[in-house]
Amino acid sequence: MVRGECHSPNYIANHHSWVYFATNPFLLLPFVFNGFKWVIPLLNLYSRTMNILLVYPQYPDSYWSFRHALRFISKKATFPPLGLITVSAMLPSTWNKKLVDMNVEALQTKDIVWADLVFISAMHIQQESVAKIIGECVKNRVKIVAGGPLFTQESGNYPQIDHFILNEAEITLPLFLKDLASGHHPHRIYKTDEYAALTLTPVPDYHLLQMKAYASMNLQVTRGCPFACDFCEITSLLGHKVRMKDTHQIINELEVLYHLNWRGQVFIVDDNFIGNKREIKNNLLPAMKEWMQNHGYPFSFNIQSSINLADDEELMTLMIETGFSSTFIGIETPEEISLEHCNKVQNQNRDLLQSVRKIQNAGFQVSAGFIVGFDSDTPSVFQRQIDFIQQSGIVSAMVGLLNAPKNTTLYQRMEVEHRLTTTSSGNNTDLSMNFIPKMNIHDLLDGYKSIIKNIYSAKPYYNRIRQFLMNYQRPTVSRRQVKFSNLVAFFKSNFIIGIVNKGQGEYWKFLIWTLRKHPGLFIDAMTFVVYGYHFRTVYGLMTRDDD
Ligand code: SF4
Repeated sequence: MVRGECHSPNYIANHHSWVYFATNPFLLLPFVFNGFKWVIPLLNLYSRTMNILLVYPQYPDSYWSFRHALRFISKKATFPPLGLITVSAMLPSTWNKKLVDMNVEALQTKDIVWADLVFISAMHIQQESVAKIIGECVKNRVKIVAGGPLFTQESGNYPQIDHFILNEAEITLPLFLKDLASGHHPHRIYKTDEYAALTLTPVPDYHLLQMKAYASMNLQVTRGCPFACDFCEITSLLGHKVRMKDTHQIINELEVLYHLNWRGQVFIVDDNFIGNKREIKNNLLPAMKEWMQNHGYPFSFNIQSSINLADDEELMTLMIETGFSSTFIGIETPEEISLEHCNKVQNQNRDLLQSVRKIQNAGFQVSAGFIVGFDSDTPSVFQRQIDFIQQSGIVSAMVGLLNAPKNTTLYQRMEVEHRLTTTSSGNNTDLSMNFIPKMNIHDLLDGYKSIIKNIYSAKPYYNRIRQFLMNYQRPTVSRRQVKFSNLVAFFKSNFIIGIVNKGQGEYWKFLIWTLRKHPGLFIDAMTFVVYGYHFRTVYGLMTRDDD
């Protein structure tokens, strides 16, 4: 799983068909394994032109969509479809490619009928949109090629799809292309138990994106995670061994983004960026730091990491000096017994609040995930979660009900205990669970709703931002310049949050407090204010008397 126009020398090399062919080693694998009998078919494939439509399905409105926050900064989506543009870069450069990210623009029939093949990549949360795309392709008799986490786990649910490129595209896509080139009808399913070396992964086709529509770009450094949390599907999809791109690949991707005139946020999509601390610290970060210095710090990096980041001050300092600004951490629960049951070893036997403080004090903004619904949860867990979240100053706290995705240890246990009910929706905020919890479901849902109300209603939410601003020191390398778009967002928020919607009083009080106490962090504070508007909207707190 992996998540514009460029003039850098490397980009040109990657997109000239013959040079691309010669410099992209995984495309040579068929030769190595099968002698040279594929030379002629592959040459034919590369000289043929095909029209490829890459379609990324729409996300529903959820915590992660940030849809209601994006309207303040006139963006249409948070991140681009990195997996799809990476697959695009693995296709022959002689093929015509068009990307439709349905979070940015509508899918049109003329695009579908133009295509010889429609490629779709999706996660579970996009299932509804996937069904519509499939319907349109079937109606117009265009073949569909699908990959990504949804299809890797649920291919049996999609009989209309012609070909599945599952697991790691670096391995399975060349096999499909080889069969296509040979003139035989390709197989329906291409899958593998192997994990690809990321040194084979090309620079994503960033040039296909409408970059201005996105709040952040994204790139991938590693795949896999050394931990084994029982509810997490990452390790069954990507393995425990952390595989990394070479440092020069990452620098090359930064160059490409830079030459496409991207400036600002870059999200590193790795599920745990510090899974291979030694390599990150000794090789990647020093090179990234030098590149950032030489280019005037054009990017601000955001990551996901495990909490043991707090244990390595040297690493945190290096990351901050390189231009890293935030991390998302799976804290899950302050209940030690639940951490033990779900095998979250890295969170056990530590003062979680203190660890968060250390990371904030180092210069990171910390967001985090929390879960209720563990077998060992008692009714006191709801207040404990509220207290922890409020005291931590974790402003973006994603609280979800526990679910058991397929191929996880938790899923297997629920299956044995006959507690499975349905498949996971993939949406952490839709109040769904796919197994029968130990706690009475009505008590659990009431407790969950009480957490949401007590952390996202205007008053506690602004208090949490205050707590964060008191804990946080913005690093000098990432001082924010006031841009025109910030001013527009500020005036929009004054009108929408400060006048039109509920919680106006808290908004103005918070604004004055920030200007008095932390004027240097005003842009950060306003960013969180806008996030709060999104959270209150998706959680349905705008229409209730909740302040
Ligand atoms: S640390 Fe995160 S990515 Fe790794 S297994 Fe646990 S939940 Fe999954």
